[in-house]
Amino acid sequence: MKITSYEAATLLIPEDDPLANMPEDPNRKRPIVTLRLRTDNGIEGIGVTFYGGAMTGSLCKAVDELAALTVGEDPLRIEKIVAKLRNGTGDSCGPGGIFTLALSAVDVALWDIKGKALDQPLWKLLGGHRDRVPTYASGSLRRGLTHDQAQRAAQILVQKGFREMKTQMALPGNPTIADEIRRVQVVREAIGPDIKLMCDINQRWRPEQAIDIGSRVEDVGLFWLEDVTRADDYQGLARVTAALKTPIAGGEYVYGIEPFRQMIQMHSVDIPMIDICRAGGVTQWMKIAGMAEAFNLPVVTHVMPEILCHVLAACPNGLTVEYMPWMLCLYEETPAIEDGMIVLPDKPGLGLKFDEKAVASFRA
Ligand SMILES: [Mg+2]
Repeated sequence: MKITSYEAATLLIPEDDPLANMPEDPNRKRPIVTLRLRTDNGIEGIGVTFYGGAMTGSLCKAVDELAALTVGEDPLRIEKIVAKLRNGTGDSCGPGGIFTLALSAVDVALWDIKGKALDQPLWKLLGGHRDRVPTYASGSLRRGLTHDQAQRAAQILVQKGFREMKTQMALPGNPTIADEIRRVQVVREAIGPDIKLMCDINQRWRPEQAIDIGSRVEDVGLFWLEDVTRADDYQGLARVTAALKTPIAGGEYVYGIEPFRQMIQMHSVDIPMIDICRAGGVTQWMKIAGMAEAFNLPVVTHVMPEILCHVLAACPNGLTVEYMPWMLCLYEETPAIEDGMIVLPDKPGLGLKFDEKAVASFRA
């Protein structure tokens, strides 16, 4: 089997909130890049990447240029192809930035092809530890909402059957410490004691702020506190992690596999969160998960649950899948949620098929 052709496209998808229907701006669009890789026996593998922002056109071009290097290659030899792509760029325009984001789209499409060629769903090919995985609602309980809106949105998520959900602190404007604490308290009041509640800071605090506010909300019983300070401040993160009983999650912002070695060795986080685009695809995601396993740490996913449920279900130390529904609109069908768990698909590869009508309507 050989790769024969490829097609990368930039799409603008709605920045809505399909879980609780409380979008901040329903007209705002999120730019993403899709890739189709085709083989000589008629298999099409798909990949998706983003974080290009105003440079998404450049990211699409990067995906296009890397995909061109795969033509003629055997798609089952993924590590060989990854090495070729790194060599093709002189190994010097990565790991941080567009190279790795583009590599991820190619790598995901290759794994999709491999699953389809072997007639196995990806989660089984990668290890198949479980056939359903916990998931948490994300993207609805944002810091931009009022406390009342956050409470209402949280109740909607509980009614929908979610048993885990994430909110945010580091509120906009100049919040008092009491305002910050109030946010997690009102959400906890709305959902009761038994629902797991996470809270994301998105790198907005200094370490000493994280220790101060984090220690004042320990009695709220957060399942984790996420990205409490700058993602590359491994020592600052370690101070917070050592100071708080609440587990600290982090890692979504870092590129490649090496930063996770630093994070783990320095005890920067209790729960490594691995973003597939910034890791460089399925291949690198699984390596980071294995590294964490050796250190007795769980791992969690970042966005794209329809793809990431496979890697989390594959590894024995997967904790929960972030159900960030941003890209569900791209597909005809996405994995079902039953009793707060994602049910892994039986279909080969990713088990996803682009909804061609929707995708055409999102064309940039
Ligand atoms: Mg986050």
